[in-house]
Amino acid sequence: MTEKTPLPPFFDETHDALRASVRRFVEQEILPHVDDWEEQNSFPRELYQKAGQAGFLGLGFPEALGGTPGDVFHKLVFSEEIMRSTSGGLVASLGSLDIALPPIVKWGSLALKERVVPAVISGEKIAALAITEPSGGSDVANIKTRAEKVTVDGKQYYKVNGSKTFITSGMRADYYTVAVRTGGEGYGGISLLMIEKGTPGFTTGRNLKKMCWWASDTAELFFEDCLVPAENLIGVENTGFFAIMANFQSERLMLTSMANMTSQMALEACMSYVKERETFGRPIGKYQVIKHKLVEMATRLEVSNTMMYQVAANMQNGVDQVKQVSMAKNFATDTSDFITYEAVQIFGGMGLMREGPVDRLYRDNRILSIGGGTREIMNEIISKQMGL
Ligand SMILES: Cc1cc2nc3c(=O)[nH]c(=O)nc-3n(C[C@H](O)[C@H](O)[C@H](O)COP(=O)(O)OP(=O)(O)OC[C@H]3O[C@@H](n4cnc5c(N)ncnc54)[C@H](O)[C@@H]3O)c2cc1C
Repeated sequence: MTEKTPLPPFFDETHDALRASVRRFVEQEILPHVDDWEEQNSFPRELYQKAGQAGFLGLGFPEALGGTPGDVFHKLVFSEEIMRSTSGGLVASLGSLDIALPPIVKWGSLALKERVVPAVISGEKIAALAITEPSGGSDVANIKTRAEKVTVDGKQYYKVNGSKTFITSGMRADYYTVAVRTGGEGYGGISLLMIEKGTPGFTTGRNLKKMCWWASDTAELFFEDCLVPAENLIGVENTGFFAIMANFQSERLMLTSMANMTSQMALEACMSYVKERETFGRPIGKYQVIKHKLVEMATRLEVSNTMMYQVAANMQNGVDQVKQVSMAKNFATDTSDFITYEAVQIFGGMGLMREGPVDRLYRDNRILSIGGGTREIMNEIISKQMGL
């Protein structure tokens, strides 16, 4: 129960080699420190550089921009193995580039790409994606942060006013991919701008304290007459909504894999604990009720993994998976909700102790059906795709 079930059609020796190398990285660079980092609500910036030097941050990005060749399954393997750090917060922060950079790579100007992408995937700089606002995250088409085109000293800028909240890596990022309103109401008036830390008029608020993801910083961003050079526009003005929606697909696959790995680690912890913990003179794993819980956990996880790999294979082949990836995320988070809840139950009082192996899994799991689109929003997407 310590290995992922092998699925030969999806993984080849390059994926296996990557898995081994990420696992070593996690064992050497993260696990000895992760409990302290969680308590400190942070982890050293040098970890980005180490992950960058190992080629992990650049996986799947163009080699011309310093990236490492890789397909959807290399990304999945990295996500699965970095989750072995047991800190969803660390994974989310280290991975915030994966939601911030793709729009720049796909739609940004060459100058913007060359300025931002190599610096971030080498781990020298940090990137964040800022869509959610205090007035709401689900209704992306209704964002209120305004960006008005102005000319100052003969140079064109966007003057940005508004705020963002719940932004992963929000405190210490250097580059922010920010959703702004450049046009009229609704989805047709949204653009993406790259805004750099230190731009006058741009400030960050406090590091928000959270139930989950303690090692990750989550921040508010404020823009007050913030002048952003017009060349920082990502893609064509007023087409940002489509870029955001396209970007969500891979984020949702990664959140699916985070949920499945959370389930995997919780199940593994239970499999060991039920053999060693005794009540009434017997290991608790001898009780049928406990066995059946474990069987139910394993069954749901197997189905969830199979669906995720199938969706990943279709994405790899360029097949539209908007409906399926939403289903996979919901199935995976339903599964991880069930498994982490039952894991705490199986551990009894120890399930609630920070020194135990399942407390953090339980807490970190809670965000997964909210971030990257809530369960209800996934259902809305699925129902539209079903023609309802
Ligand atoms: C730790 C953390 C990290 C995050 N990181 C980032 C980040 O890096 N970048 C970023 O931009 N955002 C980030 N977010 C924000 C996240 O994406 C939003 O929290 C999420 O999209 C939900 O938005 P909301 O919190 O405003 O909830 P709301 O949109 O206010 O929704 C509240 C409730 O209403 C439900 N609801 C809303 N609309 C409907 C509907 N049509 N039908 C049925 N139910 C509905 C929702 O499902 C939810 O249950 C992060 C959030 C957290 C907690």
